[in-house]
Amino acid sequence: MVIITLQISANLEQIEELYTNHPDYVFLLKLKCLNCGECSDRWHDVIESKTFPSKTGKSDSHYLEKCKLCGRENRLSIIEGTNEKYTNEDQGNFKSIINFDCRGIEPIEFSPTDGWIAKIEDSGNIFEGIDLTEKEWVEYDEKINQSVGIYDFQYKFIKIK
Ligand code: ZN
Repeated sequence: MVIITLQISANLEQIEELYTNHPDYVFLLKLKCLNCGECSDRWHDVIESKTFPSKTGKSDSHYLEKCKLCGRENRLSIIEGTNEKYTNEDQGNFKSIINFDCRGIEPIEFSPTDGWIAKIEDSGNIFEGIDLTEKEWVEYDEKINQSVGIYDFQYKFIKIK
């Protein structure tokens, strides 16, 4: 078993907290088979609220598919309770927001897409359904008469076990 954490980094303008609509957030991942080295060009949806039951009495997983090249059955699961918020205090640093239990595969690319939520500093307003496909987002908060935004979104995967 290998545990890989997804870390993000961003610059936040007037945002207190940035987080996903867990457990319905879609982690869009590209995966690499560790048996044969195949890196599929296809994006895969990994969602904590959507599980695939295992036939052999193993625990359910959030991704279960046979490698197209070598035929091995690979699995990946979101580890429950590892979702974290990215806050204004984390700015400029990478922070883990989710951990994956990887069996036979590793995530190699992540596309943030929509489903992000931002809590605005001072106003307490919540913006939902934020799309970070373009790695940035700008809005105007009328309660505090200020622009709010997310800039320079970056990510990386780190093997922690
Ligand atoms: Zn393979």
